[in-house]
Amino acid sequence: MLNKLSDTIYYLSNQDDRDRPTLGLVCGDQYSLIIDSGNSTQHAQEFLLEIAKLDVPPVKYLVITHAHWDHFLGMNEFDATVIVNSLTNNKLKEWQNLKFDDHSLQMYVNNNQMSTMCMEIIQTEISNRDRFKLRSPEMIFENTLTIDLGNKVCILEKIKSTHTDDSTIVYIPDEKVVFLADCAYGTTTNSLFHYKQSLLLPMIEDIQKYDAEMFLLGHESICDLIEMTTFWNELTAASEAVTSSSLEQAIESFKLKNKREPTDDELFFIKAFVNDQIIQSK
Ligand SMILES: [Zn+2]
Repeated sequence: MLNKLSDTIYYLSNQDDRDRPTLGLVCGDQYSLIIDSGNSTQHAQEFLLEIAKLDVPPVKYLVITHAHWDHFLGMNEFDATVIVNSLTNNKLKEWQNLKFDDHSLQMYVNNNQMSTMCMEIIQTEISNRDRFKLRSPEMIFENTLTIDLGNKVCILEKIKSTHTDDSTIVYIPDEKVVFLADCAYGTTTNSLFHYKQSLLLPMIEDIQKYDAEMFLLGHESICDLIEMTTFWNELTAASEAVTSSSLEQAIESFKLKNKREPTDDELFFIKAFVNDQIIQSK
């Protein structure tokens, strides 16, 4: 079932056990816009069935927030103009050449081009795989793009992100809602989860310039302003404590500055920033 955030904004909650991210729907007077297509044709079809139950204007646009498979593999199902930033467009080109039969999928997994989870979802949730070919986006933008759905403006912006270099966020000014997708998360390099320290503050600045009260995240569904501020504060405090690749030193520095032990979340972030130092020093 879709969650109703306001009269014009809905979302389908993320489902972690099936690697399904949050999907969004924004409705203007004339048209509707979708944020992320789902991780498979099945995920997309389930979303479209839910949308069909509502009395909303036709879906004219589909924004893909970044080129991670779980956010775009359902995009062939939408009769809509697909919008991406130019970096996402380049990354998607690799996927447009992939084949989806079992033999090819296993080869991509063996070459570390694809995760096992991705292969399994494709095998169970995409039908007619022998003929499946990912479509190309129709509308490519560089830094920002404004879409008017009829009395409902959506501002798309490519922002600096600790997750990928191609993150797009979608801000709906008159609802004070922003779809962040995965941009505020860390990333994994050579099996090591880390948070890009140099991008943290620029990213927070990029996001905080928008006057938002509700934040939709790719794998948490929804945060209000207090929860989001706590998240930024924990990340910032963790980052400030990390100045080398020593975890012990970082924890000591955190305790000294904050006069308390780090919370579990802060400890998780501290480790991720330490991992970033390890990666940067290589
Ligand atoms: Zn992602």
